[in-house]
Amino acid sequence: MEDITHFLTGVLIQISIFMYFKFPFNILFTMVFAFLSHFLIDALAKITYHTPEALKGDKFWIIWHIIIYSGSLIILIIFFIPYWLGMLFAKIVDIWDWFILRPIQNRKKKKNPESKWMEKYFFHPTIDKIRKKTLFWLPNWNYERKGIIPEIIIIFFLLVIIMFLIYPFS
Ligand SMILES: [Zn+2]
Repeated sequence: MEDITHFLTGVLIQISIFMYFKFPFNILFTMVFAFLSHFLIDALAKITYHTPEALKGDKFWIIWHIIIYSGSLIILIIFFIPYWLGMLFAKIVDIWDWFILRPIQNRKKKKNPESKWMEKYFFHPTIDKIRKKTLFWLPNWNYERKGIIPEIIIIFFLLVIIMFLIYPFS
């Protein structure tokens, strides 16, 4: 799913864990659960509009991405203090796969196209396996524009729960 969904999940996890646990368990559990949340969220991404490649000629794709990237950046800034830890660990799987392993692997592949360097250490193939085993019954809306609706609903609910936890009634 989109960064904003991962960030909000990380924020929600950090708020909930810090309500019930004291140092060092609050830090530790936030890291573990935020990390694991990425697997669930990405497995669910099947029902969201998420084309594997950029559709740069497609107006809908461009507008959606401008909105969703701006939203992600705004959420990152608003919640950075004090929820950077939850957000960072909710995103670590992407940082590891796309920003650390992939660029190094690409460099190795330039020298040797057969290179399978660190192939086993990517997280996303594991997420694909989890999705195929457990969420095979979900429709695949990766190329369907209506796939933005489940993502918007999830973002909305995460925001409502977070607001409720930060500013409880009474
Ligand atoms: Zn991911």
